Amino acid sequence: MSALGTPERPLAVAIVGAGPSGFYAAEALLKAPGLTARVDLFDRLPTPYGLVRGGVAPDHQKIKSVAAVYERTAQDPRLRFFGAVKLGRDVAADELAARHDAVIYAVGCESDRRMGIPGEELGGSHSATEFVGWYNGHPDHRGRSFNLSASSVAVVGVGNVAMDVTRILARPAEELAGTDIAGYALAALRASKVRTVWLLGRRGPAEAAYSPDEIEEIGELSATDLLVDPAEAVVDEVSRRELADPAVKKKVEYIQKRAGSGTGTKKRRVRLRFRVSPVELLGENGRVSAMRVEKNALMSDGKGGVKAVGAGVFETIKVGLVLRSVGYRGIPLPGVPFDDKSGHIPHVDGRVVSAPGKPVLPGHYVVGWAKRGPSGLIGTNRADSVATVESLIADCRAGALPACADSSLDATLRLLADKKVRALSFADWLKLDALEKAAGSKTGKIREKFTRVEDMLAALPPR
Ligand code: NAP
Repeated sequence: MSALGTPERPLAVAIVGAGPSGFYAAEALLKAPGLTARVDLFDRLPTPYGLVRGGVAPDHQKIKSVAAVYERTAQDPRLRFFGAVKLGRDVAADELAARHDAVIYAVGCESDRRMGIPGEELGGSHSATEFVGWYNGHPDHRGRSFNLSASSVAVVGVGNVAMDVTRILARPAEELAGTDIAGYALAALRASKVRTVWLLGRRGPAEAAYSPDEIEEIGELSATDLLVDPAEAVVDEVSRRELADPAVKKKVEYIQKRAGSGTGTKKRRVRLRFRVSPVELLGENGRVSAMRVEKNALMSDGKGGVKAVGAGVFETIKVGLVLRSVGYRGIPLPGVPFDDKSGHIPHVDGRVVSAPGKPVLPGHYVVGWAKRGPSGLIGTNRADSVATVESLIADCRAGALPACADSSLDATLRLLADKKVRALSFADWLKLDALEKAAGSKTGKIREKFTRVEDMLAALPPR
């Protein structure tokens, strides 16, 4: 019998999730020296690229240009794209495993963390995930509405997602008009009455999670002042040693410069606060009307870090919309192990284990945010996927992959046909892509996205 991973018997790998980490895993497999592999790449949506399409903000088109790299990978004849195929709904994990030598989960983190405070369930309190998905035309979030008639809104957390949502709220809508923002979101933002965005960090300026460029972009917005209270821009004694990191120093210096720049004159304001934690959302008629925050003191967490501890001093800020941007979280997939504590798929070196500390499930692998949690920039996923693929190839060479019932090209097609699943190909996506660009060109936009799966399917005549 021919060895696995040779031209006579290619290594057949199913990758679930066509976002950055899935594409980087496919690329690593197809480029691995001395290995012959083929990839079936599945996504629950008809469209590929995951967060590059549904997460990256419309005013960050340069970041989205990485999709051209994924497109080249997708056009490799050894890769097949199966769009609109959802694990757990259309196919089961064990059905994929029975038709491939290995399965890689590249499913990201599709949910979000919660603040865990009273009032979080009120109308007008949302996750940043929902808002991001909404303005990006993600089919899961297209139907949501946000109270943009509020003059004052709060964004909780100071990571890069918080920077994205703050920019979208604070930027004149006209500056987004030529992007790929969803049409309905552009219309809503044009009518927005938002004048003040409270941006709330629970620790100090040295601990802020945003990148230096991202906060500076907020400071450079054309019609918005970035305001910082000088007392909150001070670096605490406990945080001083963090300034040895040049990126931290740069962020702190920028904040201290802004803190000295007065109260502002522009139409809108971003009021960046430090050392404050929301403790309760207050409501009127079931909707958020204000947020109670507690001032924090910073202290050592005993592990080399700095933690925020409530100082018992409270204030109330009037807001009509709250977006919590306190981190994403994975959601369990049917038939795939999930560690509820960490919020992702448990693994050792990318090899899925049934539970933390338990044995490896041979033939199952994980990459990206589903593997390490929601951290890092898009490019971070490349090295992460390469590392998992190295584990997979080592297992292939060591004969440690489970025997596969039928890894032929036809096996997956038969499975989908038997289950009457209409999978879209990469050629189908390219048609949708062309239609979106053509629709956008009519109104001067980069593209007008399809935001409903039904509309995408209807635009493609069945084969
Ligand atoms: P993040 O970087 O982990 O930031 C989460 C923020 O939420 C932190 O400020 C954190 O504060 C705060 N937080 C957590 N729990 C909180 C609570 N209970 N109360 C108040 N604040 C709380 O996560 P993210 O912003 O979702 O970003 C995810 C990843 O995507 C990051 O690696 C980010 O760089 C990346 N990303 C990059 C870009 C870009 O490059 N343009 C855009 C979007 C996302 P503590 O620090 O105190 O925990």
